[in-house]
Amino acid sequence: MNNKIYQERRNALAKQIYTKSGGGVAVISTAPELARNRDSEFPYRHDSDFFYLTGFEEPGATLVMEIKSSGKAYELQSHLFCRPKDPEREIWDGIRLGPEAASAALGVEFAHSNQELDRKLGGLLADQTAIYIRLAESAEADCRLRHWMKQVRAQARSGINPPSELHDVEALIHEMRLFKDVHEIDTMRRAAAISARAHIRAMQRCKPGIREYQLEAELLHEFRNSGSQSVAYNSIVAGGANACILHYRAGASELRSGELCLIDAGCELNGYASDITRTFPVSGKYTGPQRALYDITLAAQEAAVAMTKPGNSFMQPHEAALKVLTQGLLDEKLLKLSELGSLENAIEIAAYRRFYMHRTSHWLGMDVHDVGSYRESIGEEEKPWRILKSGMVITIEPGLYVRPADDIDETFWNIGIRIEDDAVINESGCELISRGAPVKADEIEATMKNV
Ligand code: MG
Ligand code: MG
Repeated sequence: MNNKIYQERRNALAKQIYTKSGGGVAVISTAPELARNRDSEFPYRHDSDFFYLTGFEEPGATLVMEIKSSGKAYELQSHLFCRPKDPEREIWDGIRLGPEAASAALGVEFAHSNQELDRKLGGLLADQTAIYIRLAESAEADCRLRHWMKQVRAQARSGINPPSELHDVEALIHEMRLFKDVHEIDTMRRAAAISARAHIRAMQRCKPGIREYQLEAELLHEFRNSGSQSVAYNSIVAGGANACILHYRAGASELRSGELCLIDAGCELNGYASDITRTFPVSGKYTGPQRALYDITLAAQEAAVAMTKPGNSFMQPHEAALKVLTQGLLDEKLLKLSELGSLENAIEIAAYRRFYMHRTSHWLGMDVHDVGSYRESIGEEEKPWRILKSGMVITIEPGLYVRPADDIDETFWNIGIRIEDDAVINESGCELISRGAPVKADEIEATMKNV
């Protein structure tokens, strides 16, 4: 394990804490294990912030960073609290790293059993000015903090002072996570390549009569067979009208000739997500109206891609997509120019919302809807949208969803289309890392034929 990356991240966080508060203690715990039923648990997934700073994937662990001022610089000592070795439990649940090995393996100065956490924290917080912690994380975490503070306060008559500042540690970590380094981008490229192959596999196995869950199985096959540990989110496989339900899961519906199938699925690889959507015809050939709306959606995506570059705001790709989608809806008479007057007015009053009700992008990283503020921290009243910079990763995912209605031509009913790719912003523009999956209508039809 290359633990240098994690040491550098802890140092970068320590530096910010030192600059803000002149020192302090940061406490970041990993995610708890969750029971599924009785003594069966959900597959364990570490907490992203904790993993970002440690590279450690076991449950039951807490990172405590002690940042002290030493002259004009700071001194960082990292403590990892983890599950102690337990030969009996390890027979059942697997090998634990244990505190004896953790220090060398993870590059932390100290490692302790997690049973020591409550006892040691009182000492670590003594005479520190600030605590950096997740605010309002859980009743249990609040309770623990009270317990630790009580321990420090109990030493007041020995001249020891408790911390007097409480800060949100997440805001600092999330700002760091917004900018991906080369190691992270490399992992995300590999995750996207696996997901792209999974989409191709699903397209090629699709035929009228197959059920949504069967295509989900094809996706999962490719994910796991390629070494991905998990899905990044529950796969959406939606046939026909189901595609118009934005958070539909892969259900049991039969896919029918003449309908579209929308798949929004991505794997997680080594803690990093991918997020791809493709919409293809069940029969292998788009109908005229499907093709018309598909090409509009793709043109909207291309317009958004062109605006995804450093210096532009987070909203510019969305605005570019809206313009193309709205013009397309007017061209296809799904929106009536006679009622709306102009393209500008249709956009102004958000006439597109009936057919396009979500945003075009979100941050992508360890979490599929990744962390990081969408607004700049400057500005007094209305903070401007974030300016895109090299190293940020966003999805670009316009869509069109047409529900049956009296004022809509029946040939468009139940067409739901979304096209989603993952874009790494670089110096000159962006790199689409998910285009291993075909995206042009002709290419998709050719892929489906070429089995
Ligand atoms: Mg998606
Ligand atoms: Mg997405």
